[in-house]
Amino acid sequence: MVKITGYETHDVRFPTSLTGDGTDAMNTDCDYSSAYVALLTDSDLVGYGMTFTIGRGNEIVCAAIKEVAKRLVGKDTESLFADMGKAWDYMMADPQLRWIGPEKGVIHIASGAVNNALWDMYARSRKKPLWKLIVDFTPEELVRSATFRYITDAITREEALAMLKEKEAGKKEREEEVKRVGYPAYVTSAGWLGYSDEKVARLTKEAVAQGFNHFKMKVGASLSDDLRRGNLIRSIIDDPQFLPPNTTPRDPKSPALQGKNAGPTGAVLMIDANQVWDVPEAIEYVSALQEIRPWFIEEPTAPDDVLGHAAVRKGLKGVGIGVATGEHAHNRMVFKQLLQAEAVDVAQIDSCRLAGVSEVLAVLLMAAKFGVPVCPHAGGVGLCEYVIHLSLIDYIAISGTMERNVLEFVDHLHEHFVTPCSINAQGRYNVPMNPGEGYSIEMHKSSIAEFEYPNGTYWKGRGEEGKAAEA
Ligand SMILES: [Mg+2]
Repeated sequence: MVKITGYETHDVRFPTSLTGDGTDAMNTDCDYSSAYVALLTDSDLVGYGMTFTIGRGNEIVCAAIKEVAKRLVGKDTESLFADMGKAWDYMMADPQLRWIGPEKGVIHIASGAVNNALWDMYARSRKKPLWKLIVDFTPEELVRSATFRYITDAITREEALAMLKEKEAGKKEREEEVKRVGYPAYVTSAGWLGYSDEKVARLTKEAVAQGFNHFKMKVGASLSDDLRRGNLIRSIIDDPQFLPPNTTPRDPKSPALQGKNAGPTGAVLMIDANQVWDVPEAIEYVSALQEIRPWFIEEPTAPDDVLGHAAVRKGLKGVGIGVATGEHAHNRMVFKQLLQAEAVDVAQIDSCRLAGVSEVLAVLLMAAKFGVPVCPHAGGVGLCEYVIHLSLIDYIAISGTMERNVLEFVDHLHEHFVTPCSINAQGRYNVPMNPGEGYSIEMHKSSIAEFEYPNGTYWKGRGEEGKAAEA
């Protein structure tokens, strides 16, 4: 019998604000950070998890992680693994911690870190990467692993089971297919708001040469800047001369590209406002960006405003631009309402704003039922490592569709992970295959020693003020 005996947390911060990486209309000064946890046992088995923040406040999340992780100390791992849905309910049900949520804010993202660590431990104990652990589940086991509380008006366990059984027959074939071709990705690293036009042009050309065909640009600070940058990006991605050698342009009319406003080479542009507008302003501003032909506007307004998103979506129908959101949707109930209100064309789950894999599975099941594609949020630090697992689960076991979906990829900070994600020559995520990598989120001990805040070797003696002076 293996028991959970304790936990460690680390407040790890990377000084990304010095380079303008990660800048958008709302978040102008980000130090990508990880509130990291290791769940320890009385054996060699360890479970790693984290949630993402952008700097200040990361220590508050670490304090909350300790409170949530305490509930698991002393528990037998096999009895937790036997019913992960029940384990999730238990983890979330602290009668006092619940008051500082419920199921939102710091306590919820801390719960995400802990639940992900438990899933990582489960996958490691079975010597499988997380996605493989879950796609090998029977439909009954997968349904049991998700949380259904408060969503049965949108999907029942019985409906979920029937959907999964229908997908059973093709699982093996889809697994082989995605291992061979990789999972479609899109690139955000070229379009940060803090970058100069020269840097945007260079990075966009590089991304096209790497095989990417979906690109995302940050908008919302200045309409004239957005139009200029959007036209600059379109002039590169729509020009066949920049495609990798011997590449045939994709057919913009192919089923995978329908409705995405793809250009002549099959390239797709998306835009992201990171919540800066009120509803009428969002409709007016995005309508004025029609000439750069985006597929969707991401986070046009406040992330909790379900009916506001529905209004924006309705308001943009005439110009053929869709709506995406979800990276700040704090729980499955927000996704339920977004789907019920027909407020989104694309659902963008976040691997650690939702409270871990068990809650993510609930959202994947709902999205599949409503026929809305899931394009997870990534970037930051560690998010790309996490989300490839979730998209593989979605494709192989749940929705069965891949080519219309795209998974965000941002090429920052992967070197800090023991089993970093990777992209193939066609601009698609490789499938994680290491049997010991669990949920792929274990960080190098040397990275923690360097970037732990405020006493790691990078931060010691610098502090926030020292960093500002240096910059
Ligand atoms: Mg975003």
